[in-house]
Amino acid sequence: MPSLQALKRSARYELIRAGLEGTALALNFGLPLTNPQRGVIFALHHVDPESPANWAPNAWLSITPTFLEQAIEVCKEEGLIPIALEDLPERLADPQDTRRYVCFTLDDGYRDNARFAAPVFQRHAVPYTIFITSGFVERTRSIWWKTAQDLVMRTDDVDLSTFGIDTRVNIEQRAERVALFDRLANAVNDAENEDTAIARLDSLAAAHGIDPLAITEHLTMNARELAELAADPLAHFGAHTLTHANLTKVDDKRLETEMVQSAARVGGYVGAKPTTFAYPYGYASAVGAREIAAARQAGFVAAVTTRPGLLSETSGKAATALPRVSLNGFYQRKRYVRALLSGLPFRLRQT
Ligand SMILES: [Zn+2]
Repeated sequence: MPSLQALKRSARYELIRAGLEGTALALNFGLPLTNPQRGVIFALHHVDPESPANWAPNAWLSITPTFLEQAIEVCKEEGLIPIALEDLPERLADPQDTRRYVCFTLDDGYRDNARFAAPVFQRHAVPYTIFITSGFVERTRSIWWKTAQDLVMRTDDVDLSTFGIDTRVNIEQRAERVALFDRLANAVNDAENEDTAIARLDSLAAAHGIDPLAITEHLTMNARELAELAADPLAHFGAHTLTHANLTKVDDKRLETEMVQSAARVGGYVGAKPTTFAYPYGYASAVGAREIAAARQAGFVAAVTTRPGLLSETSGKAATALPRVSLNGFYQRKRYVRALLSGLPFRLRQT
């Protein structure tokens, strides 16, 4: 049986897809893009020609280079000007400037960004910003959603006793794998202490022959690769904390350390201290007023959330709480990008 969470999720995806299709259709019939927007910041994770199975955990995090290319084409057709995120706040703050901009950002520092995304950005002369978690670069921090993914995809029988929730679960069926992934994800997301929950997940994985830090090593760029990529004048780098913690759950001291020290470390890898920041997870329960103020205090000129929305006239005044639009593995259609740029799907969500 698919979990209730999985069912709800697929219903939500269908609803979003219907919204995007409806908007695309309306645009075809000549609905004008008249809202006074200032553009968009796109959020990406993996860019890889090999798409994961649609039902697989984390599948939404991966888009193909072809879709990235299409998204860039749509932005250019719509007259958006590609710029680096670090240059955006100044442009938004200029009252004389009414142009619309597009910024491409990629979170977590995955190796496929250099291999598959960078060549697309280079072909189109589009700047891009990659947000780096130094604990991933230094292979000291596991990527828990990947650990959980490996665990449910590579084993059939999981002993949850070390995790303290159950004894054994048999997960031969696809839906059961998704349900177990959701359960593990909830255990991390709902934990008061995220570090403890991740440590538990890591030892659960280890007990099933999975090495969580080997996954980090396999998926993310190390310091040498980052230095190589930094030679690309279009490549920019931002901080994404030391440990990819949900910042709303850490104390003031650690909040500051996660921001300031990760910026220093990224500066060490790429030769220039970053002025931009992405909140881990980025959704409402991971970014609050305290975190937004801390990012400003830490000296970032721009900090991005994953709160969906386009840039507006007022975005410049809230430069450490910028919305982003996810380029998502489930909606890889040119017409969907055009629909997102209209801003209509976000207004529909709010009603
Ligand atoms: Zn992230």
